[in-house]
Amino acid sequence: MTEATELVGSELDLVAEEIRSGDRFLLTTHENPDGDALGSLLAVHRILETLGKDSLMFLAAKEFPLPVEYRFLPLEEVFHEPPADISDRVVIFLDCGNIDRMPVDFLREGRNKVINIDHHHDNTRFGTINLIDVEASCTAEIVYELAGLLGVEMTPELANALYVALVTDTGKFMYENTDERSHRMAAGLIEAGVQVNEVYRRLYEHAPIEKLKLLARALDKVEVRDDGRLAVTYISEGDYSSTGASEALTEGVIDHLRAIDGTVVAAVVRDQSETDRAARKVSMRSTDGRVDVSAIARVHGGGGHRRAAGFGTDLPYEQVVDFLIGEIAARVGGSPTSG
Ligand code: 5GP
Ligand code: MN
Repeated sequence: MTEATELVGSELDLVAEEIRSGDRFLLTTHENPDGDALGSLLAVHRILETLGKDSLMFLAAKEFPLPVEYRFLPLEEVFHEPPADISDRVVIFLDCGNIDRMPVDFLREGRNKVINIDHHHDNTRFGTINLIDVEASCTAEIVYELAGLLGVEMTPELANALYVALVTDTGKFMYENTDERSHRMAAGLIEAGVQVNEVYRRLYEHAPIEKLKLLARALDKVEVRDDGRLAVTYISEGDYSSTGASEALTEGVIDHLRAIDGTVVAAVVRDQSETDRAARKVSMRSTDGRVDVSAIARVHGGGGHRRAAGFGTDLPYEQVVDFLIGEIAARVGGSPTSG
């Protein structure tokens, strides 16, 4: 065991102890929640319920509707308002790298004991207890270990929630965060009753036609810049209105951009309609690991993983592109080209 895994091990014990001894919990995750965020949220909720705890899941109302892919997850019990007894609850953050990814005042006031469970390397350790395993492919991998440590039975429903998180954060077991540990976890979940093809179909083959129309527009506008090192596109308000698609249908567009030969960084810039958010959201992927996109995101107050990160900005699209070209050149060398 390395020193790092031992440290994580002791934090895992601490969190297990906190859960065993606590009664009331409130669980939450980051804004714009993805498969790992929602799967981990639901999984911890079920674990706590199994242990006889009072558990509430919380997500701000503006996060709904959720990305269409994840709507089959049984998340009807999610609360949108703080419960009256919030000050008596231990708050568990899942998959949330920093507190600014939870722009909800009552959770930022510092009144609660906070358990921070995450796998982002840039996690700011804002919790009272921080269980951060940067080696984990997804937050759900940590939750899976926690379930084992707590002796919670792996029911098909719990396994499904964890599997959704695992499949989505590993790019269907294809990204470089995929290793023996993630495959062993998959085997364990399948043993517990996950129907692999059913989950796949739910995640990837229940798209409304509007999602494809939006994808078509995004692909039509793809540009390869900086001698092909940057593949980038823009999803504008006009694209939402002309296709009838909402922002909840943008998930996955970026995967098509990263597939273009020669791409070092893929980026999708999209308009955000929520007035309390930045005008645009920039999602980035690093294909071969030469560029740490989380470092680029941090320049504008965002973050994420080295190979998948994002930030919000009010800059217009062209300025975002110029910024990205400059950042790529600064990190992989060569002078930026406008081509
Ligand atoms: P996505 O591009 O799929 O929205 O996000 C990719 C990764 O970057 C995820 O791990 C996500 O949590 C992180 N990320 C996306 N946007 C932001 C942001 O605005 N701030 C931070 N800190 N992380 C972000
Ligand atoms: Mn994650």
